[in-house]
Amino acid sequence: MSESSVASDLYAVIGHPVAHSRSPAIHTAFAAATGQRLRYERRLAPLDGFATTLAEFAREGGRGCNITVPFKFEAFAAAAECSERAERAGAVNTLKREGDRWLADNTDGVGLVRDIVVNAGVPLAGQRVLLLGAGGAAAGVLGPLLAEGPAELVIANRSVDKAQTLAERHASVATRHGSALRIAPLSAPGSAFDVVLNATASSLGGGAVPVGAEVLRPGCLALDLMYGPAARPFLDWAAGLGAFARDGLGMLVEQAAESFAWWRGVRPPTAPVLAALRAEVDTGAH
Ligand code: NDP
Repeated sequence: MSESSVASDLYAVIGHPVAHSRSPAIHTAFAAATGQRLRYERRLAPLDGFATTLAEFAREGGRGCNITVPFKFEAFAAAAECSERAERAGAVNTLKREGDRWLADNTDGVGLVRDIVVNAGVPLAGQRVLLLGAGGAAAGVLGPLLAEGPAELVIANRSVDKAQTLAERHASVATRHGSALRIAPLSAPGSAFDVVLNATASSLGGGAVPVGAEVLRPGCLALDLMYGPAARPFLDWAAGLGAFARDGLGMLVEQAAESFAWWRGVRPPTAPVLAALRAEVDTGAH
């Protein structure tokens, strides 16, 4: 059989909306860099139709998929088996087909940690970290953040009960890594953190920065998980107050690399993909 007649493996990102997703470009670049034969598509699932869309994707021979807003909790429920970090998060961003089952992982947290520690060169061990938000993204990143051993990690969320639930689920990880884990309301999150992470959807909704300037220590890292124009108000606010401001583009590429490595057994280089994506986002190209 000639190489060109060998069908390539099918992957996709499932979400609603999904047209804006940069995952197809990222995974196509990873495949080219590693010589893997695959195609990666977008699948728009109806808001009440995630399970049907996933079943249809499996029938087409889909080998794996990324899951984005708002289906990360439904993807958790659809999985036959989850990694420990996905189990603890209760949310899944990566599925892999094995026989007739979906195996699940959550690579958001390891992607964020890699972007902070390796790409930005900011250590988390022994630091004071403020995590804003307690939704799907915050749930996914909390375990891997704690595994780095910050001295203190505060979760501040608009709905304090959700922060409480998240903290309870991660109490043993915090203890294992010697971190003091506590919750706070957005109105009184504490002050002078070394690392401030905005995992709320406030930027996405065009809302104001959800905390006051006192959370920033001069020279701290202030990272919004969002990227593109929507992240700009938070980044400008942080930079204007003397923080080192960073968006979520690096996390996006690193979480994708982790998914790719799990699916294909080969780790793609991320720096050139991040640089190309950064140029596109900065010039407003899609
Ligand atoms: P969810 O809808 O699951 O959670 C939203 C969170 O934001 C909740 O904590 C909610 O608080 C809070 N929130 C919403 N609006 C406001 C507001 N106006 N002021 C204060 N808090 C608010 O969303 P996700 O967790 O999935 O996504 C959060 C962000 O992370 C998004 O911007 C998303 O684009 C980004 N993201 C980036 C990734 C990347 O790879 N770079 C990966 C995943 C997410 P409450 O609980 O009170 O409702």
